[in-house]
Amino acid sequence: MSKSFVFGVDIGATWVRVAISDPSGNIVIKDREPIDTSSNLVVSKQIEKIGRNLCQRVDREPGDLSGIGIASAGPMNRKEGKLVNPSNIPLGEVPLAGPLEKSFDTKVELINDGVSAVLAESKYGAGQEYDNLVYITISTGIGGGVIVDDHLLIGKNGNAAEVGHFTIDEEEKLKCGCGRKGHWEAYCSGSNIPDFVRTSLESIEPEARNSPLLEEKKKAFRDFQPRDLFEYAKGGDELALNIVEEIGRLNAIGFATVTEAYDPELITVGGGVALNNPELILEPIRKKITDHTQNEVPEIKITPLNEENVLYGAIARALTLSENLR
Ligand SMILES: [Zn+2]
Repeated sequence: MSKSFVFGVDIGATWVRVAISDPSGNIVIKDREPIDTSSNLVVSKQIEKIGRNLCQRVDREPGDLSGIGIASAGPMNRKEGKLVNPSNIPLGEVPLAGPLEKSFDTKVELINDGVSAVLAESKYGAGQEYDNLVYITISTGIGGGVIVDDHLLIGKNGNAAEVGHFTIDEEEKLKCGCGRKGHWEAYCSGSNIPDFVRTSLESIEPEARNSPLLEEKKKAFRDFQPRDLFEYAKGGDELALNIVEEIGRLNAIGFATVTEAYDPELITVGGGVALNNPELILEPIRKKITDHTQNEVPEIKITPLNEENVLYGAIARALTLSENLR
């Protein structure tokens, strides 16, 4: 049996996850820690610490490590292996590949988490039979990964599929986490749905309806979460249903733009907002997408992979690195 192994790393807004994988892509052991944002240099040290600890626990020599794949939300400079003002981590430039290459004397590759997820979908998930595949996450933010003609799109800096920053509202009513207006993520992502609901209700006369959303409005939407909107909609509240329908229309514009740009056979969808409300998110998209794209509409379904898809994509990338070394 080969002694070699790889690290897959998933950097999110909340957690740093590290896994040791065998050469076949099976996770041997994994661990996670809350991300330490006390300094931009500390994230790579945290990955090193978790990685060395995992090696100890399963009796592997760090010297036998044959590659590290790191997936993170962008934006990033892939060639320099660093994050650049990541929208959900409050740090400026975060160098990752350089310090880890030095510590472990191995190749390190940094990829976007959406790119990582589509890679996992293609290797282990619903995309195994497809050459043209898009993965979209509707989560805290909105992100994506794209495979066209069996070719993974990466881009000059690794940001080829930042679909959440497609402009879907030319009136630019809402502001995105990136600072620009009118972006898809500013309307339909988990962190921005409360703002969308608040804006939508500005024109509603309180006397005109009897809805729990108007109670939320009175409380200035304190503690209001996206799940509250979907719960009210599932309970049959008409106002909540109308807003969910409008979110669906905006999502359909996003999915239609993706369809125009990449002509996929399949779009798989993940992320907490979609996974917790599959019908309320996907049905309006399926219904409205033809209003906005002239291309043949792809199959649209929830990803069968769990939240580890990003980690599996990072492992797949690390294994490609280690194969190239042989
Ligand atoms: Zn944006």
